[in-house]
Amino acid sequence: MNSILKTTELPYCKGCGHDLIAKKSAQALENLGLSPLDVIVVTDIGCHGIIDKCLNTHTVHGLHGRSVALGAGISFGIENPDKKVLVFIGDGGSTIGLQHIMEAARLNLNMTVVVHNNMLYGMTGGQTSGLTPRGFCTTTSFEGNPFAGYDICELTHTAGAAYSSRIMGVGDITDELVEAFSVKGFALTEVMEICPSYGVKLNPRRKLSEILESSGKKTGVWKNERKAFVLEQGKKSYDLLEELKGVEKDFPEVLASDLSLVISGSAGEGIQSAATLLASAAMRSGCHVTQKGSYPVTVGVGFSTAEVNLSPEPINFHGIGVPDIAIITSADGLAHSKKRIEGMKKGKLFIDESLETPSTGAEVIKRDFRSAGARSACMYAVIYFAKSTGIVDTESIYKTIEESGLAEKMPLSKIKEKIGSLN
Ligand code: SF4
Repeated sequence: MNSILKTTELPYCKGCGHDLIAKKSAQALENLGLSPLDVIVVTDIGCHGIIDKCLNTHTVHGLHGRSVALGAGISFGIENPDKKVLVFIGDGGSTIGLQHIMEAARLNLNMTVVVHNNMLYGMTGGQTSGLTPRGFCTTTSFEGNPFAGYDICELTHTAGAAYSSRIMGVGDITDELVEAFSVKGFALTEVMEICPSYGVKLNPRRKLSEILESSGKKTGVWKNERKAFVLEQGKKSYDLLEELKGVEKDFPEVLASDLSLVISGSAGEGIQSAATLLASAAMRSGCHVTQKGSYPVTVGVGFSTAEVNLSPEPINFHGIGVPDIAIITSADGLAHSKKRIEGMKKGKLFIDESLETPSTGAEVIKRDFRSAGARSACMYAVIYFAKSTGIVDTESIYKTIEESGLAEKMPLSKIKEKIGSLN
């Protein structure tokens, strides 16, 4: 069996308590008979998180404060109860992601969280965290933190965690960690330590035991007799993509090279729907497509812009700076996409005839798109673009519209009539 740690040379500053926690955690896992691939370690942002590269276990590195949420997701998804989900987090991450910890404790998810509480943000320069005790000096409270830190053990215990403990990060803590790691349900162990680089320097001559005592907190273990959460208690998860119907290729291929489109109009005028219908129709001709929408949070007011990429090849990047084609159907859309249109050195701009044409190197095609009605102007413009360029088969667009049930909601025959006169 491989050891949990790849090396005993860990990358922390000399004297850092994280070194002890990592080594004793590895020892505790091994004492429990766990091999590296039985263990999923999730780390957070902070000095403790640089342990990832030293582990032979599965590792996941989370965003700041989100490691417990990731661990919770893994705990939810793992069917084998013999696998161990172990989350390492600092005092900063614990308070940034406090709600994640509280929810995992409330549900009593089967996982262990080790809080590396050195009472400040070590990685970013020694700032005060939510677990910094009153009176402890940091680089953002030189005269001592005026506020009491949260009692993370009391919080998790009250929330319903099976096991909460606070231990001093000195000496051999393997047995305490073995006890926490053996819990079936949510276990949190807060390990008290001082960061030599900031905590010791800013709090000279203060001992860890005295700091803890003056904070009013104690070492100890707090338990709730509860069964661990089992998946059947929650909603069954399923593959969200499973129910999506694929798009069959039932039209001939027409697109020879990549094409990017920006389609802009007013919110509530069917911009995103028109883009989706165009993208779906293109897929029927074997195109690869991406679609991205942009609009203000105030749904129904202001601009609405859709970015669509079409390609005969798989698309690995969906961003569009300056597009090949711009389709503009209202003043809101023009205002939102004007800079990009001005940046076009070539390509085509399809724009409603009521709008002022911005300065652009693109070929300008003006048309009475809004004559189809505000809510159908974009659809008309998209079909017009397809017909006049031949890039997407208009018949595939009509068929897609009819199958979507949207044909009733737009003057399709009027649009067809206008498009037909293009022949
Ligand atoms: S800065 Fe502090 S917390 Fe970070 S590795 Fe160094 S001693 Fe440890």
